[in-house]
Amino acid sequence: MTMPDPTHPASHDRLRALGIVALNGMFDEMDAVGVLRYAVEDVLHGDLAIVSSFGADSAVLLHMVSQVDPAMPVFFLETGKHFPETLAYVETLKSRFGLTHVEAIHPDPADIARFDPQGTLWETDPDSCCHIRKTEPLEPVTLRYGGWVTGRKRYQTQERGVLPHFELTSDERIKVNPLAYFTDADVIAYRKAHDLPEHPLYAKGYKSIGCAPCTSVVAEGEDPRAGRWRGLNKKECGIHYDFNGAIASPMQASRHNLWKDGAFIADPFKPWDEGLAATEARYVHVPLAAFLAQREAFLSSPHPLGLLIAPGERVEDVAEDLGRFASVAISFPAFGDGRGYSSARLLRERYGYGGEVRAVGDVLQDQIPLMRRCGFSAFVVTHEPTRQALIENRLPEVALFYQPVGATEIPVGTRPFLRRAS
Ligand code: SF4
Repeated sequence: MTMPDPTHPASHDRLRALGIVALNGMFDEMDAVGVLRYAVEDVLHGDLAIVSSFGADSAVLLHMVSQVDPAMPVFFLETGKHFPETLAYVETLKSRFGLTHVEAIHPDPADIARFDPQGTLWETDPDSCCHIRKTEPLEPVTLRYGGWVTGRKRYQTQERGVLPHFELTSDERIKVNPLAYFTDADVIAYRKAHDLPEHPLYAKGYKSIGCAPCTSVVAEGEDPRAGRWRGLNKKECGIHYDFNGAIASPMQASRHNLWKDGAFIADPFKPWDEGLAATEARYVHVPLAAFLAQREAFLSSPHPLGLLIAPGERVEDVAEDLGRFASVAISFPAFGDGRGYSSARLLRERYGYGGEVRAVGDVLQDQIPLMRRCGFSAFVVTHEPTRQALIENRLPEVALFYQPVGATEIPVGTRPFLRRAS
């Protein structure tokens, strides 16, 4: 199989030449296998993959894949939270259908250690849990292929009422929806006709199956999805993941602005919202004044929080509570404002704060070496030349400093008297 070129999905030229409307007119509504075969053999040539949840509904599409191209890459998000029955079902379908390229995608262990060390994030913040266990690990994989097969169907939602077999997405990807016209009854009929193995939990009342902590049995007559994230106002895993565990909206890789440990990474923190109640706040940097105004409520909240310190605000005012925050953001509204450096040093040197200290605002290339000396460990960088400099590892080297910093030993020559001696 040829490796797809992630930068230029050549299959798009082919699709454009064919004309998407004409292409969609070529197939009978129920000719799902025909659609899939044409996508594999005439349009995407080895540049097509599928994400499967190996849930209650997955066997039909995977069976079709096995009929057309058993070597098609099938990705499975191994969140670490699946039922053992689902893991067994992966093996069952793999061997029964002869699928030769089933690949598990795992969350980054560093993300788990950092954001979900107890494994209970699903309880307090399922969106963040899905983000680190599903969206983040999947994102780089989506960029590797020009086309994705989805299991979406017209009948599922109003928005999907006009779903075609082939879609050209705005991020230069092709989505192939072989089951677009299938109804629930068609799926059941296909399952029966081909004697497909059922998910072991289906007969026990699990009609839509995802991670174990977030899946429950549904009652007779209930929406099959009612058992997912029951009691929580959550229906989907994230922006790139949909109803059936397939790639959903255009797979736009979101730009990462947080630079940490030598790389731009996804930022688990969201912007602060003025209207947010203390009990609802999670993965936000709470402005220091807002924190002090509702200190008790924030301290008793179980959610991960950060703190935002603006120039002129006093670290001393929150010294006792610093252990509450996973991250402290210090803002630099203007390049020339140096007060943030002192705040960082107080955090590190006087109060021994060991969490993330991040610089936000006007963060430029020349400042970063100095910020690091003062204890900053993360930087939110939107300035394009600075981003490029960081990506290419082109930070200015600063060999001489006027002022020593506390905990870190300063190289010879950095203090005036040492400079004189040398
Ligand atoms: S479905 Fe539940 S356990 Fe799985 S990643 Fe999402 S929140 Fe976490």
